[in-house]
Amino acid sequence: AALTTGARAEATIDLGALRDNLAALRERVAGPELMAVVKADAYGHGAVRCAREAVAAGARWLGTATPEEALALRAAGIGPDRARILCWLWTPGGPWQEALRQRIDVSVSGRWALAELLAAVRETGVSARVHLKVDTGLGRNGCQPHDWPDLVDEALRAQAEGLLEVVGLWSHFAAADEPGHPSIQAQLDSFAAALAFAEGAGVRPEVRHLANSPATLTLPQSHYDLVRPGLAMYGLSPVPDLGGPADYGLRPVMSLTARLALVKSAPGGHGVSYGHHYTTPGPTTLGLVPVGYADGVPRHASNTGPVQIGGKWYRVAGRVAMDQFVVDLGGDTPGVGTEVLLFGSGEHGEPTAEDWGRACGTISYEIITRIGSRVPRRYV
Ligand code: PLP
Repeated sequence: AALTTGARAEATIDLGALRDNLAALRERVAGPELMAVVKADAYGHGAVRCAREAVAAGARWLGTATPEEALALRAAGIGPDRARILCWLWTPGGPWQEALRQRIDVSVSGRWALAELLAAVRETGVSARVHLKVDTGLGRNGCQPHDWPDLVDEALRAQAEGLLEVVGLWSHFAAADEPGHPSIQAQLDSFAAALAFAEGAGVRPEVRHLANSPATLTLPQSHYDLVRPGLAMYGLSPVPDLGGPADYGLRPVMSLTARLALVKSAPGGHGVSYGHHYTTPGPTTLGLVPVGYADGVPRHASNTGPVQIGGKWYRVAGRVAMDQFVVDLGGDTPGVGTEVLLFGSGEHGEPTAEDWGRACGTISYEIITRIGSRVPRRYV
């Protein structure tokens, strides 16, 4: 899709691709429910738009990290009748009461959270829907297995008082994107043990869930009652070593385009951008691309990030600056205003967010998520 007239840069969000990706995931995961993970502004794609599409495509659950993200979805009119929302990253003093009033499911990983939640339940008179999270090996959030029995017992006591309902038991993988990694089986075993304990103690969860995108695509034994894909929904491969998006029936949703702001000739030996980390090897032409690290183009892309202009690939020359970078056009003379594709679907040989991740020593997740608010999103 062409850049909007007069636009400096634009992130195009292909909602048709998003719908197709959701359908592809739905097909792959026949039984379990699907939670569309829309945290971090839907990985940069726009949380409300993507959440609406996901719900329309049959996702009954939405997942966010922070309670503020969850509340924003409710405020945008995605009501409890349309979608369950789970948020899992709480800090002391968080908006527990508002989450309860808005019928948002909450994750609890420790006793401090349970205590704050119960105080909010008593103040609001609204019973909570709780997902207890166990750390099966990620070593990040979640209750340690040795503290799990106490957390389960405490939650069950509150449930008996009618203060909450334990509706979910869950965990998160450390290395599901590395097939065969020994932590995968260890986490599956640890999760099974945590479930056995909780269910033995009397928890009757509505949903048990463990699978992120790579597990959704490659580990059916981890699907349980609900899968939580993020990246795959946005059409990028969460297991790039195994295959690209097309191998999983996925298509990248976001593409990023800018418009050449200047084209000029330069002699050989001309230093380019801050610090002169690029010097023209001979007489050439330079193109100015008016996006920079303030737009989320990583500074680590200096001298390496790929772009496509008129069907041809070029690389960032010199440092990426706050608002702009330069490409060495090698004597080509595209007109000022010509579109510069930073990344797209890759279906026709364009650079992809995966290429940018590799060029910058990071992952595609970070590339798409960091595209800044200064870049308008255009939904097609
Ligand atoms: N579940 C949890 C708890 C997460 O933090 C994330 C994101 O990192 C996801 C699911 C989705 O992960 P992915 O984008 O790999 O599917």
